Amino acid sequence: MKTIRVLSVASEIYPLIKTGGLADVVGALPIALKAEQVDTRTLVPGYPAVLNSVRKTAPVFECAPFFGGKARLLAGTHEGLDLFVLDAPHLFARSGNPYLSPEGIDWPDNGTRFAALSRMAAEIGVGVAVSTFVPDVVHAHDWQAGLAPAYLRYSHRRMPGTIMTVHNMGYQGKFPPEMLSEFDLPAEAFTVEGVEYYGGIGFLKAGLRLADRITTVSPTYAKEIQTDEGGMGLGGLLRERAGDLRGILNGIDTSVWNPSTDLRIAKRYDADCLQNRMANKAALQQRLGLEVAPNAFLLGVISRMSWQKGLDLLFDNFPTILREGMQLALLGTGDTDLQAMYRAAAQANPRQIGVLIGYDEDLAHLIQAGADALIVPSRFEPCGLTQLCALRYGAVPIVSRVGGLEDTVVDMDAPAIAGESKTGFKFAPVTTQNLASALQRAHAEFRDKAAWCRIQQSGMSRDVSWRDRAARYADLYREIVSLHSIN
Ligand code: ADP
Repeated sequence: MKTIRVLSVASEIYPLIKTGGLADVVGALPIALKAEQVDTRTLVPGYPAVLNSVRKTAPVFECAPFFGGKARLLAGTHEGLDLFVLDAPHLFARSGNPYLSPEGIDWPDNGTRFAALSRMAAEIGVGVAVSTFVPDVVHAHDWQAGLAPAYLRYSHRRMPGTIMTVHNMGYQGKFPPEMLSEFDLPAEAFTVEGVEYYGGIGFLKAGLRLADRITTVSPTYAKEIQTDEGGMGLGGLLRERAGDLRGILNGIDTSVWNPSTDLRIAKRYDADCLQNRMANKAALQQRLGLEVAPNAFLLGVISRMSWQKGLDLLFDNFPTILREGMQLALLGTGDTDLQAMYRAAAQANPRQIGVLIGYDEDLAHLIQAGADALIVPSRFEPCGLTQLCALRYGAVPIVSRVGGLEDTVVDMDAPAIAGESKTGFKFAPVTTQNLASALQRAHAEFRDKAAWCRIQQSGMSRDVSWRDRAARYADLYREIVSLHSIN
């Protein structure tokens, strides 16, 4: 089998810089693809967090001026990942969140920053930047890389194949039309067939219009984004391109997320010694100042705090949680109103509600290992990763029936796939009341220790790794390469 060379382009990559699941996918997929004879290089911005960690960097390309300053491309490696780093200090020498200023607002030049990233992807894509790595396929992730297929198209050179992957339709990258020349796009690009989007410039739209193939991160989300509601303005375009759209589920890195080797948790365990989870439950209760109560039904949440994630619905369920004697361990950051509401509830009910506002990988692992159930009440969820980690850790997922949550959790009370056993609880439509019923249903089942253990074990036996999913990406890359060799 011929090796395929892929340039993956993204604004975040685990473990160097991460705000959400995008980083996890971009960091794990290239490693899983090695077994499929796919040689991936990932192009990422040179944020301080990246430049300070990447090893053995060497400059491979210099360009000035580049979007208003000096830039160079570095090649380097990090923990099995082969990277190209766009070192452009005027755009990326900013610490902290990759998109937000310290005041928590979008950097005003985000359009230019990620246009530059996409532009560099195209320079590599056409073979100008790095003669030793000319990709067969350029794989753009989310709006930040969405212009890459556009720069390639309007370069009018020999093009590699292109894929646009949507990790979240809620972030589309729309900018005013006057930015066209600042983004170094030709006037011919500003049409409905190009980058024009409701009178402005749409980064994600451009990628979805111009890439050879489109993927998103679950089969159900692939259907949802073809509707007017789920498409958030792009449903019509996606209906038109339905034949080129695939839903490929995300996996998780099962070496990072492995309860039998995890050094971040209090006691390691596997499906055959689930009683060892109790030590993690006690450690979690202690860590968040909850009552150390082995029999309390302990719910976990690890989430960005945004409208998408439905945490307001969970908040509205606090009367049920408190009345039924459940406990909650929440780790999250985001919307300041939600943060304040959760903090206040924790202060008022410290034995039952534990909240840590912030980003904490260690605590995320302990929640997965110690909570009885993991709640994901999202209004929409392209794939969702925390429920996959939860399956692997025996924290039974209680999720809304949307997107990837629908595809990865099996609930016998909802239409289940033949031959599968129950791995969690699902509710729909996404309302406070339906979440309450799911919590109560789960709580009742939790009291039956043998039944609960069966649900945990069937979840833990699911394959949530990247192996099969990476093979699907590899098939798609090969399909695109053959498309280009025919043309
Ligand atoms: P999204 O990408 O929409 O935020 P996902 O479920 O796809 O949601 O991915 C979220 C990832 O980020 C998971 O790996 C989860 O464990 C992690 N995560 C989210 N919030 C936090 C946090 N506050 N601390 C540590 N990890 C977090």
